[in-house]
Amino acid sequence: MAYDKSIEAFDAAYRVIPGGVDSPVRAFSGVESTPPFIKRGEGAYLFDIDGNKYIDFVQSWGPLIFGHCDPEIETAVIDAVRDGLSFGAPTTVETELASEIVDLFESIDKVRFVSSGTEAVMSAIRLARGVTGRDHIVKFTGCYHGHSDSLLVQAGSGLATFGTPSSPGVPSDLTKYTLLATYNDMASVEKCFEDVNGDIACVIIEPIAGNMGLVPADEHFLEGLRALCDRYDTLLIFDEVMSGFRASLSGAQGILSVKPDMVTLGKVIGAGMPVGAFGASAKIMSHLSPEGPVYQAGTLSGNPVAMAAGLTSLRKLKANPSIYEVLEKRAKKLVEGFEKAAKAVEVPMVTEVRGSMFGFFFLDKAVKNFANACDNDTQMFAKFHKGMLDRGIYLACSSYETGFISTVTDDAMIDVAITAAYETMNEIVN
Ligand SMILES: *Cc1c(COP(=O)(O)O)cnc(C)c1O
Repeated sequence: MAYDKSIEAFDAAYRVIPGGVDSPVRAFSGVESTPPFIKRGEGAYLFDIDGNKYIDFVQSWGPLIFGHCDPEIETAVIDAVRDGLSFGAPTTVETELASEIVDLFESIDKVRFVSSGTEAVMSAIRLARGVTGRDHIVKFTGCYHGHSDSLLVQAGSGLATFGTPSSPGVPSDLTKYTLLATYNDMASVEKCFEDVNGDIACVIIEPIAGNMGLVPADEHFLEGLRALCDRYDTLLIFDEVMSGFRASLSGAQGILSVKPDMVTLGKVIGAGMPVGAFGASAKIMSHLSPEGPVYQAGTLSGNPVAMAAGLTSLRKLKANPSIYEVLEKRAKKLVEGFEKAAKAVEVPMVTEVRGSMFGFFFLDKAVKNFANACDNDTQMFAKFHKGMLDRGIYLACSSYETGFISTVTDDAMIDVAITAAYETMNEIVN
């Protein structure tokens, strides 16, 4: 495939936008390449400015569960646009979308809308701190919760569980309240609680981690978290910005028995428009302004165009809940095909699927945490990514990202992707 126009566009972007992109992963540095510039999408396909056509397994990093340009969502958005882009005043569509979410998530009585996943998590953590009157929070290495200050942390030196900033510009005075634990490792969480005598506002986790590749938490581990949080009156937050409406209609909570105190949502609830949300029991949410003292606000929060997209998307999903079985079957077929293609040339691969989410690692052992994920053969991943892209298969450009199947990604497309995987693996080893 030729990428001449995209390379030119990237050069032009580079001159006026840092790194040429508005979100770092898009720069393709994870696969030592440069990104195709996209012109348009149509169903399961993407078209770049050089005229290349791809089957899209990224889907805007999750939101587009119905693929590009779904007619019903498109109509709802256009209708909303005709009524005005924003009012900064209440609209009934917010209540409608909130009601759908409350109906789907047992742990949510009330929900507040914001404009991104980052904002949802940042606000949920402020609320958790406000409700408990505590400052410390626990997060897991390898889980991503957006780019707000107290969540951009990495492990400090030695055995300390206290985080240090993972980015310049984040004051260590803020990250010292963030304790870091190891995913699927209860002892590491207990150590955090011991280090501060249980004085912890919340534990935040991706119950199905999708930002270190796809790494679901063990149910037993989540049960342990629930019990520990209950013992210390610490709030358990499930960050379901990715897994909500992706792993199942109600996210991880639709698959697992463990219930959180608070939930953060994003991606699919905006169907491609900028929407995030956080919800909890009426009691917890009553602490939020204007009902309570914890401040949170947004000029474009609950934007009517974005709400219309989200509402249409959720209603479509609710009308056809068995769609998740179909999506999961296709996702399984895809990664089993990848695995066979790799094994045919004696390259190890392990895979994981939850609903419409899929992940694969070039490894010979199961991945349970971030350290395991970091063992992935990134050179092999980069070659695989390049070979697949050249064959019209658009995969996430980093081995730490999850792949997605949409309702319009049909079986024939899965077959095309598997054939491309065989060709690519053969090309790599020969
Ligand atoms: C994408 C994501 C976020 C951040 O959402 P943005 O809309 O990119 O700010 C937070 N948490 C999880 C689990 C995510 O996958």
